[in-house]
Amino acid sequence: MLVIKDLCAGLENTEILKGISLTINKGEIHSIMGPNGHGKSTLSKILIGHPGYAVRSGSITYNGKNLLEMPPEKRALEGVFLAYQYPVEIPGVNNAEFLRMAYNAKMKHEGKELVDPLDFEDILGEKMALLGMDAKFRERSVNEGFSGGEKKKNEILQMAILEPQIAVLDEIDSGLDIDALKIVAEGVNKLANANNAILAITHYPRLLQYIKPQHVHVLINGRIVRSGGYNLANDLEKTGYDSYLQA
Ligand code: ADP
Ligand code: MG
Repeated sequence: MLVIKDLCAGLENTEILKGISLTINKGEIHSIMGPNGHGKSTLSKILIGHPGYAVRSGSITYNGKNLLEMPPEKRALEGVFLAYQYPVEIPGVNNAEFLRMAYNAKMKHEGKELVDPLDFEDILGEKMALLGMDAKFRERSVNEGFSGGEKKKNEILQMAILEPQIAVLDEIDSGLDIDALKIVAEGVNKLANANNAILAITHYPRLLQYIKPQHVHVLINGRIVRSGGYNLANDLEKTGYDSYLQA
Protein backbone atom coordinates (compact mmCIF):
# COMPACT_ATOMS: atom_id res chain seq x y z
CA MET A 1 0.00 0.00 0.00
CA LEU A 2 2.68 2.46 1.03
CA VAL A 3 6.29 2.23 -0.09
CA ILE A 4 8.76 4.84 1.11
CA LYS A 5 12.19 4.62 -0.51
CA ASP A 6 15.35 6.46 0.55
CA LEU A 7 13.38 9.50 1.60
CA CYS A 8 15.52 12.56 2.33
CA ALA A 9 13.38 15.49 3.43
CA GLY A 10 13.01 18.32 5.88
CA LEU A 11 12.63 22.06 5.88
CA GLU A 12 13.69 24.27 2.98
CA ASN A 13 17.29 24.48 4.25
CA THR A 14 17.52 21.72 6.84
CA GLU A 15 17.62 18.01 6.27
CA ILE A 16 15.65 16.13 8.96
CA LEU A 17 14.95 12.75 7.33
CA LYS A 18 18.14 11.18 6.00
CA GLY A 19 17.14 8.16 3.97
CA ILE A 20 13.95 6.56 5.28
CA SER A 21 12.72 3.33 3.68
CA LEU A 22 9.53 1.71 4.89
CA THR A 23 6.93 -0.59 3.34
CA ILE A 24 3.45 -0.91 4.81
CA ASN A 25 1.00 -3.49 3.49
CA LYS A 26 -2.75 -3.71 3.90
CA GLY A 27 -3.83 -5.14 7.21
CA GLU A 28 -0.60 -4.20 9.00
CA ILE A 29 -0.06 -2.09 12.08
CA HIS A 30 3.36 -0.45 12.27
CA SER A 31 4.86 1.68 14.95
CA ILE A 32 7.67 4.20 14.75
CA MET A 33 9.34 4.88 18.07
CA GLY A 34 12.12 7.25 18.94
CA PRO A 35 13.19 10.09 21.19
CA ASN A 36 11.94 13.66 20.76
CA GLY A 37 13.21 15.77 17.93
CA HIS A 38 14.44 13.02 15.62
CA GLY A 39 12.00 13.41 12.74
CA LYS A 40 8.88 11.38 13.54
CA SER A 41 6.41 14.21 13.08
CA THR A 42 8.32 15.43 10.05
CA LEU A 43 7.71 12.06 8.40
CA SER A 44 4.00 12.20 9.25
CA LYS A 45 3.69 15.70 7.79
CA ILE A 46 5.57 14.74 4.61
CA LEU A 47 3.10 11.87 4.17
CA ILE A 48 0.08 14.18 4.14
CA GLY A 49 1.81 16.86 2.04
CA HIS A 50 2.33 19.61 4.62
CA PRO A 51 3.49 22.65 2.60
CA GLY A 52 6.12 23.66 5.17
CA TYR A 53 8.28 20.62 4.44
CA ALA A 54 10.28 19.76 1.35
CA VAL A 55 11.36 16.43 -0.12
CA ARG A 56 14.92 16.43 -1.41
CA SER A 57 15.13 12.92 -2.82
CA GLY A 58 13.59 9.49 -2.64
CA SER A 59 10.04 8.39 -3.37
CA ILE A 60 6.71 7.56 -1.77
CA THR A 61 4.34 5.27 -3.64
CA TYR A 62 0.76 4.85 -2.42
CA ASN A 63 -1.42 2.19 -4.04
CA GLY A 64 0.93 2.29 -7.01
CA LYS A 65 0.70 6.07 -7.44
CA ASN A 66 3.32 8.72 -6.79
CA LEU A 67 2.10 10.22 -3.51
CA LEU A 68 4.49 13.16 -3.68
CA GLU A 69 2.80 14.44 -6.85
CA MET A 70 -0.61 14.52 -5.18
CA PRO A 71 -1.82 17.72 -3.44
CA PRO A 72 -2.75 17.27 0.25
CA GLU A 73 -6.51 17.29 -0.37
CA LYS A 74 -6.17 14.55 -2.99
CA ARG A 75 -4.17 12.43 -0.55
CA ALA A 76 -6.91 12.87 2.05
CA LEU A 77 -9.63 11.90 -0.44
CA GLU A 78 -7.66 8.84 -1.44
CA GLY A 79 -7.51 7.68 2.16
CA VAL A 80 -4.35 9.09 3.72
CA PHE A 81 -5.08 10.39 7.21
CA LEU A 82 -3.01 12.06 9.91
CA ALA A 83 -4.00 12.42 13.54
CA TYR A 84 -1.83 15.37 14.51
CA GLN A 85 0.49 15.40 17.48
CA TYR A 86 -0.72 18.95 18.08
CA PRO A 87 -4.27 19.22 16.67
CA VAL A 88 -5.22 22.67 15.43
CA GLU A 89 -8.07 24.64 16.98
CA ILE A 90 -10.52 26.09 14.45
CA PRO A 91 -12.68 28.67 16.23
CA GLY A 92 -16.07 29.31 14.62
CA VAL A 93 -16.19 25.99 12.77
CA ASN A 94 -18.78 23.64 14.22
CA ASN A 95 -17.32 20.20 14.90
CA ALA A 96 -20.27 18.15 13.60
CA GLU A 97 -20.58 20.27 10.48
CA PHE A 98 -16.82 20.07 9.87
CA LEU A 99 -16.97 16.28 10.09
CA ARG A 100 -20.02 16.10 7.80
CA MET A 101 -18.29 18.28 5.18
CA ALA A 102 -15.21 16.06 5.31
CA TYR A 103 -17.37 12.92 5.16
CA ASN A 104 -19.37 14.21 2.19
CA ALA A 105 -16.22 15.27 0.34
CA LYS A 106 -15.13 11.66 0.56
CA MET A 107 -18.56 10.33 -0.46
CA LYS A 108 -18.50 12.63 -3.49
CA HIS A 109 -15.00 11.46 -4.40
CA GLU A 110 -16.19 7.85 -4.26
CA GLY A 111 -19.33 8.59 -6.28
CA LYS A 112 -21.60 7.85 -3.32
CA GLU A 113 -24.66 9.68 -2.09
CA LEU A 114 -24.13 12.68 0.20
CA VAL A 115 -25.72 12.72 3.64
CA ASP A 116 -27.83 15.55 5.09
CA PRO A 117 -27.32 16.85 8.65
CA LEU A 118 -30.11 14.66 10.04
CA ASP A 119 -28.73 11.38 8.69
CA PHE A 120 -25.25 12.41 9.70
CA GLU A 121 -26.43 12.73 13.31
CA ASP A 122 -26.79 8.95 13.43
CA ILE A 123 -23.42 8.23 11.83
CA LEU A 124 -21.73 10.68 14.18
CA GLY A 125 -23.62 9.43 17.23
CA GLU A 126 -22.48 5.87 16.64
CA LYS A 127 -18.82 6.85 16.29
CA MET A 128 -18.91 9.16 19.29
CA ALA A 129 -20.37 6.38 21.40
CA LEU A 130 -17.53 4.14 20.26
CA LEU A 131 -15.09 6.67 21.69
CA GLY A 132 -17.13 7.53 24.76
CA MET A 133 -17.46 11.16 23.66
CA ASP A 134 -20.11 13.42 25.11
CA ALA A 135 -22.71 14.86 22.71
CA LYS A 136 -21.60 18.40 23.59
CA PHE A 137 -18.55 17.92 21.36
CA ARG A 138 -20.82 18.04 18.30
CA GLU A 139 -21.74 21.65 18.88
CA ARG A 140 -18.39 23.03 19.92
CA SER A 141 -15.88 24.57 17.52
CA VAL A 142 -13.26 22.13 16.20
CA ASN A 143 -10.83 21.51 19.07
CA GLU A 144 -11.36 24.99 20.52
CA GLY A 145 -10.72 24.86 24.24
CA PHE A 146 -10.58 21.06 24.17
CA SER A 147 -8.26 19.48 26.73
CA GLY A 148 -5.25 17.59 25.38
CA GLY A 149 -7.04 14.27 25.73
CA GLU A 150 -10.26 15.60 24.16
CA LYS A 151 -8.31 16.80 21.14
CA LYS A 152 -6.79 13.35 20.72
CA LYS A 153 -10.21 11.72 20.92
CA ASN A 154 -11.50 14.21 18.36
CA GLU A 155 -8.67 13.18 16.01
CA ILE A 156 -9.72 9.54 16.34
CA LEU A 157 -13.33 10.59 15.78
CA GLN A 158 -12.22 12.08 12.45
CA MET A 159 -10.51 8.80 11.66
CA ALA A 160 -13.66 6.86 12.57
CA ILE A 161 -15.79 9.06 10.31
CA LEU A 162 -13.39 9.10 7.35
CA GLU A 163 -12.31 5.43 7.52
CA PRO A 164 -8.90 6.07 5.93
CA GLN A 165 -6.82 3.42 4.20
CA ILE A 166 -3.68 4.49 5.97
CA ALA A 167 -3.95 6.25 9.30
CA VAL A 168 -0.86 7.92 10.70
CA LEU A 169 -1.34 8.51 14.41
CA ASP A 170 1.27 10.96 15.70
CA GLU A 171 1.61 10.52 19.47
CA ILE A 172 -2.08 9.82 19.84
CA ASP A 173 -1.29 8.69 23.38
CA SER A 174 0.24 11.94 24.62
CA GLY A 175 -1.96 13.82 27.06
CA LEU A 176 -4.27 10.85 27.61
CA ASP A 177 -4.94 9.46 31.06
CA ILE A 178 -4.99 5.69 31.37
CA ASP A 179 -8.77 5.34 30.82
CA ALA A 180 -8.78 7.61 27.78
CA LEU A 181 -5.76 5.75 26.43
CA LYS A 182 -7.68 2.48 26.61
CA ILE A 183 -10.73 3.97 24.91
CA VAL A 184 -8.63 5.50 22.13
CA ALA A 185 -6.68 2.27 21.64
CA GLU A 186 -9.90 0.24 21.54
CA GLY A 187 -11.28 2.70 18.99
CA VAL A 188 -8.18 2.26 16.85
CA ASN A 189 -8.43 -1.51 17.14
CA LYS A 190 -12.08 -1.50 16.08
CA LEU A 191 -11.18 0.55 13.02
CA ALA A 192 -8.22 -1.59 11.98
CA ASN A 193 -9.08 -4.23 9.40
CA ALA A 194 -7.60 -6.31 6.59
CA ASN A 195 -8.00 -3.49 4.06
CA ASN A 196 -6.37 -0.65 5.92
CA ALA A 197 -3.13 0.05 7.73
CA ILE A 198 -2.00 2.03 10.73
CA LEU A 199 1.27 3.78 11.46
CA ALA A 200 1.38 4.67 15.14
CA ILE A 201 4.11 7.08 16.20
CA THR A 202 4.92 7.11 19.88
CA HIS A 203 7.78 7.14 22.31
CA TYR A 204 6.00 5.10 24.92
CA PRO A 205 5.46 1.34 24.64
CA ARG A 206 2.26 1.70 26.72
CA LEU A 207 0.00 2.42 23.74
CA LEU A 208 1.54 -0.48 21.86
CA GLN A 209 0.49 -2.93 24.55
CA TYR A 210 -3.07 -2.20 23.46
CA ILE A 211 -2.76 -1.93 19.68
CA LYS A 212 -0.06 -4.61 19.24
CA PRO A 213 1.80 -3.57 16.08
CA GLN A 214 3.39 -6.41 14.09
CA HIS A 215 6.25 -4.13 13.04
CA VAL A 216 8.19 -1.69 15.20
CA HIS A 217 10.81 0.72 13.85
CA VAL A 218 13.25 2.89 15.77
CA LEU A 219 13.82 6.31 14.25
CA ILE A 220 16.98 8.09 15.37
CA ASN A 221 18.42 11.21 13.78
CA GLY A 222 16.30 10.91 10.64
CA ARG A 223 17.04 7.27 10.02
CA ILE A 224 15.36 3.97 10.85
CA VAL A 225 18.17 2.31 12.75
CA ARG A 226 16.33 -0.85 13.74
CA SER A 227 13.16 -2.70 12.76
CA GLY A 228 11.64 -5.68 14.48
CA GLY A 229 8.45 -7.23 15.75
CA TYR A 230 6.33 -6.25 18.69
CA ASN A 231 9.01 -7.47 21.11
CA LEU A 232 11.26 -4.62 20.05
CA ALA A 233 8.87 -2.24 21.82
CA ASN A 234 9.21 -4.26 25.02
CA ASP A 235 12.99 -4.24 24.73
CA LEU A 236 12.93 -0.45 24.37
CA GLU A 237 10.91 -0.20 27.56
CA LYS A 238 13.86 -1.81 29.36
CA THR A 239 16.83 -0.33 27.53
CA GLY A 240 15.56 3.09 26.44
CA TYR A 241 17.09 4.76 23.42
CA ASP A 242 20.54 5.38 24.91
CA SER A 243 22.38 2.57 23.17
CA TYR A 244 20.95 3.70 19.82
CA LEU A 245 21.83 7.31 20.48
CA GLN A 246 25.41 6.42 21.41
CA ALA A 247 25.82 4.19 18.36
P1 ADP B 1 9.82 14.30 16.58
O1 ADP B 1 8.42 14.24 16.09
O2 ADP B 1 10.59 13.03 16.38
O3 ADP B 1 9.88 14.76 18.00
P2 ADP B 1 10.11 16.42 14.60
O4 ADP B 1 9.93 15.73 13.30
O5 ADP B 1 8.94 17.21 15.10
O6 ADP B 1 10.60 15.39 15.71
O7 ADP B 1 11.33 17.42 14.50
C1 ADP B 1 12.63 17.00 14.09
C2 ADP B 1 13.58 18.19 14.18
O8 ADP B 1 13.24 19.15 13.19
C3 ADP B 1 13.53 18.91 15.52
O9 ADP B 1 14.83 19.31 15.85
C4 ADP B 1 12.64 20.09 15.24
O10 ADP B 1 12.91 21.17 16.09
C5 ADP B 1 12.96 20.40 13.79
N1 ADP B 1 11.82 21.00 13.10
C6 ADP B 1 10.72 20.37 12.65
N2 ADP B 1 9.85 21.22 12.09
C7 ADP B 1 10.41 22.44 12.19
C8 ADP B 1 10.01 23.76 11.78
N3 ADP B 1 8.85 23.97 11.15
N4 ADP B 1 10.86 24.78 12.04
C9 ADP B 1 12.06 24.55 12.67
N5 ADP B 1 12.49 23.36 13.06
C10 ADP B 1 11.70 22.31 12.84
MG1 MG C 1 6.65 14.58 17.04
